[in-house]
Amino acid sequence: MSSPLFSVAIIGGGPAGTGPLVRAACRGLLPLLLESGIAVIEAGHELAVGSLKRYGVNADSFGTSFLESVEEASSLFRSTACAQATLQLGSYRTSHPPLHLVAAFLKCLGGDLLTSIRDSRHSQCFLGYTAESIRYLTDGSVEVCIRRTRGRERRTIRSRSVVLALGGHQSSTVATRTALRLGLSLDSLDKCSLIPSDRALSLAGRPQLLRRLDASSSPRVVILGGSHSAFSAAWMLTDSGVAFETGAISILHCGRIRIFYGSRSDAANDRYADFTDREVCPTTRRRHRFGGLRGDGRELWRRVTGRSTVDETRVHIQPVDSCSSPDLARLLADATVVIPAFGYLPRTIPIFDSRMMPLVIRAEMGERLVDGQGRVMLLDGTALPNVFALGLATGLRPGSDLGGEPSFDGQVNGVWLYQHGFGDIILQSILGLIDEANCANEHASVQRT
Ligand SMILES: Cc1cc2nc3c(=O)[nH]c(=O)nc-3n(C[C@H](O)[C@H](O)[C@H](O)COP(=O)(O)OP(=O)(O)OC[C@H]3O[C@@H](n4cnc5c(N)ncnc54)[C@H](O)[C@@H]3O)c2cc1C
Repeated sequence: MSSPLFSVAIIGGGPAGTGPLVRAACRGLLPLLLESGIAVIEAGHELAVGSLKRYGVNADSFGTSFLESVEEASSLFRSTACAQATLQLGSYRTSHPPLHLVAAFLKCLGGDLLTSIRDSRHSQCFLGYTAESIRYLTDGSVEVCIRRTRGRERRTIRSRSVVLALGGHQSSTVATRTALRLGLSLDSLDKCSLIPSDRALSLAGRPQLLRRLDASSSPRVVILGGSHSAFSAAWMLTDSGVAFETGAISILHCGRIRIFYGSRSDAANDRYADFTDREVCPTTRRRHRFGGLRGDGRELWRRVTGRSTVDETRVHIQPVDSCSSPDLARLLADATVVIPAFGYLPRTIPIFDSRMMPLVIRAEMGERLVDGQGRVMLLDGTALPNVFALGLATGLRPGSDLGGEPSFDGQVNGVWLYQHGFGDIILQSILGLIDEANCANEHASVQRT
């Protein structure tokens, strides 16, 4: 029996991979999508949760941003709507819920999606399968090679298009090179003192970090970078019970630290004026809407800069270019732990053409993985017509309909975006291809009759 031809194979069933499905549910299009035949391939055993369950920190987004889609499509997300985690999340609508609660909520959402997929005639979910590679076939469709995540069984899936949503990872090579560009050499450091932010923020890495700090009579930490991860790591340390002295946690950053404010008056009340007109979202009037620090990281910055009722003297925020080379070398040499927080790279899998020649994607050179329509870009600048990607570090840009500060050219990631603007971009692309295939089929059957 020949294997079915799916209309789309979604590889990675985390918050990003499930985003277009959630978007489709909100727009009443999920039945149509499922009827067209989708395959979801997820290495783990649950949908929608992804990596968020790994982190022991609070969300940087409000609880309401997670709840919105379930409330929009409550008839489809019936179990989620009345789950305990959803009710608990409801008490964090305008505050920042712990990520373990967000993960529990997403697990329910993933359960509802899984039920819809299993109830459909043409769609299928491959839980516990890891995708290894993608190959174009001569007719332009794609073959995805998958194997059991824990086991040897291998199989292939055929589909007309693919959505890659594999999440991101931190690279030690990128950390070393970025540090060097800032005049810092990480090579001479004891390997055990180097703990990347992703590990420091994770439930699994935290004990290692705290053990190392507890073993020192005067623990000192250097955090490299000015991102959310850098400030979240500092917040987590100040809240860890470790006895840090004044100035013992240094955040060394380059460029400006941008802070999110909901309105002009919020910013003015906090004595914050570090924004130009191009850093104000024309739709919402928020300051640094996409690029600004939020949540605990933002509160830490407020405490350190004397804007909060709580003073934080243990943390010191310093632009890297204000330090001399000997001072930087001394800071690193004295540190019990150094935490590089230089962002993420997109996870990918090999893609081959129909002759099994590897296709080199642009992201391998450190550039954005996708173009504005979410299509994966090759090194030569062409976009693959039917291979899309979204999620952490893929570099999908918000369209002008989403607003945001005009000056923003960084990366923006978030569950709300996957389930709204970004989900829509991918959904439109997939639906366009499904329409094309239906037209071609109709045309072929007219020709036959
Ligand atoms: C520390 C941290 C905190 C964050 N906090 C927030 C927040 O508060 N709010 C917010 O909205 N966003 C937050 N984000 C951003 C973003 O929403 C999350 O990173 C989110 O987990 C990204 O979703 P994803 O699907 O791209 O990746 P992941 O969550 O990593 O999911 C990828 C999925 O793909 C699967 N997979 C990977 N490789 C394969 C393969 N080869 N085959 C099959 N399956 C595979 C994995 O098992 C996983 O389920 C945070 C990010 C970080 C790093």
